[in-house]
Amino acid sequence: MKVPGTEDTPLRVAIIGAGPAAFYAADHLLKQSDVHVQIDMFDRLPTPFGLVRGGVAPDHQNIKNVTRVFHKTAQQPGFRFFGNVEFGSDLLLDDLRRHYHQIFYATGAQTDRSLGIPGEDLAGSHSATEFVAWYNGHPDYRHFAFDLSAERVAVVGIGNVAVDVARILCRTPEELAATDITDYAFDALSQSRVREVHMLGRRGPLQAAFTPPEVKELGEMEDADARVLPEEADLDPLSLEDLQEADRNARRNVEIVQKFAAREPAGKSRRLFIRFLVSPVEILGEAEGRVTGIRLVRNELYRGGNGRLRPRAVDSYEELPVQLVFRSVGYEGVPLAEVPFNEDWNVILNDCGRVLDVAKRRHVVGEYVGGWIKRGPSGVIGTNKADAVETVACMLEDLKAGAVLDPPEPTVEAAERMIRDRQPEYFSYEDWMRIDEMETELGKDCGRPRVKFTSVAEMRRALRRERSTAERS
Ligand code: NAP
Repeated sequence: MKVPGTEDTPLRVAIIGAGPAAFYAADHLLKQSDVHVQIDMFDRLPTPFGLVRGGVAPDHQNIKNVTRVFHKTAQQPGFRFFGNVEFGSDLLLDDLRRHYHQIFYATGAQTDRSLGIPGEDLAGSHSATEFVAWYNGHPDYRHFAFDLSAERVAVVGIGNVAVDVARILCRTPEELAATDITDYAFDALSQSRVREVHMLGRRGPLQAAFTPPEVKELGEMEDADARVLPEEADLDPLSLEDLQEADRNARRNVEIVQKFAAREPAGKSRRLFIRFLVSPVEILGEAEGRVTGIRLVRNELYRGGNGRLRPRAVDSYEELPVQLVFRSVGYEGVPLAEVPFNEDWNVILNDCGRVLDVAKRRHVVGEYVGGWIKRGPSGVIGTNKADAVETVACMLEDLKAGAVLDPPEPTVEAAERMIRDRQPEYFSYEDWMRIDEMETELGKDCGRPRVKFTSVAEMRRALRRERSTAERS
């Protein structure tokens, strides 16, 4: 095999997924001055940018500005995007091995963790993932329905996703009108009768998973009061022991939470309670199967073997009458066809980004991983940059050592023929640019950043494309 990476024989890389981890990796690869790289990026959705489009809250437009950086990457020679192409069904690993020297998996963490308590399946009990994907217009979730005639809602978990969900439930129609929330979610939330939202943290304020700007914002909403019970804002003796050594964010969280506890409610029409040291033990329902409440047990903290403070139930219970429950206790990665997966950690097992075949106790040649499917669902968008740099360093090292795949057809033309054959309805980056332009244009008419298309059929119609045979049948 000719060593790839030259102008004559470029290094051909397939990236699976088009979120931040994928784009940071593409950018770092394309920046290499001494290696000529060609990248084909695939996503099962027609649109790029992963959770920046489908996860970041619609009222956090500034965070979405990172797509400008990704757009620059996409403009570089050697970059191509193929949307609406799913790895595992449209494309198989063997297809990629025919056309690429290296494969980079960046599929994120696509599902959510469950609580494992009775009542989780009742009508009105949902995962935060579903709600977030629904209001953000993910095509697979647009048909979901949430009963916003509920007056009281529980959100289990106090990470930043729980904060997003609670905030979106508490925003006024005027606040939402300035965002790129989908039209149907805007209409539903504008009619919402939600008056009380209870975020439920199983540990104390010092251990909260939210970050200071996010929790502070909960105290700045137009028509919702953020409240904390004073007795739950006080730190327990073990947290007090940890306070001095705690990181800056954790200490700042405590300050903000204690301010919320100390301030008088302003009499706004919605109330958002941030609770600590409580765990749900059962979601309660009526005979017809609808949520009527959530039963909580009080916790105390104890020091676990690794020094971390952990929650432990004490014999004290309360029932919150709620009609809607969102569990927001973290995402989970899902396995990819033929790729080694660790079922305990829900990640593709890897060594600094090199995929590991545990049974054979060695790296899988030519396969790499980045982002949440590499390290689990943690960190902010920018965290994926350093993560991608680490994996790309391994890719370049292996390239130097000649440890890459030896594809029989390593050309852009051959790959495109294969993709056309497997998924003629793919979307290119140029298609995305037109969709982006149309969405932004639609937004201008109503003073919003954009109005999203939320189905593949809608996007295809907007691009004036024929419908596929599958869709017609
Ligand atoms: P997360 O930060 O891991 O938070 C999960 C929350 O669920 C924690 O409060 C956790 O409590 C709780 N939890 C887990 N298991 C539980 C159980 N069995 N019972 C009760 N509570 C339970 O996850 P996330 O909120 O899904 O966020 C994922 C990542 O995306 C995070 O890194 C987050 O910062 C990031 N993100 C960032 C933004 C932003 O920057 N604006 C927005 C959204 C998401 P313990 O701490 O006790 O485990």
